[in-house]
Amino acid sequence: MPAEQVLLIMVVAIVVVTAIAAIVPGKSRPAPIHSAVGPYTPDEAHVVWQEHADCVMNSCPALHTAYWTLVDSGKLVADARAVR
Ligand SMILES: [Zn+2]
Repeated sequence: MPAEQVLLIMVVAIVVVTAIAAIVPGKSRPAPIHSAVGPYTPDEAHVVWQEHADCVMNSCPALHTAYWTLVDSGKLVADARAVR
């Protein structure tokens, strides 16, 4: 079998395995709720901060609230560009 065919088969196999892993439930975390339900305690804010690690501050109220809770509790230093 030519090397190109072997390489093509390997690439297809990786794509298929990746696609299946994305579909199979149980591996991924449940989707976080993005509306803020705060006020959070600093510990709650830390959990929310981690759950919303893929979110953007400007479009996720939960992340926004968690961020400022962590700043106010001294666990995080606010970025100079951050807006309350
Ligand atoms: Zn979010």
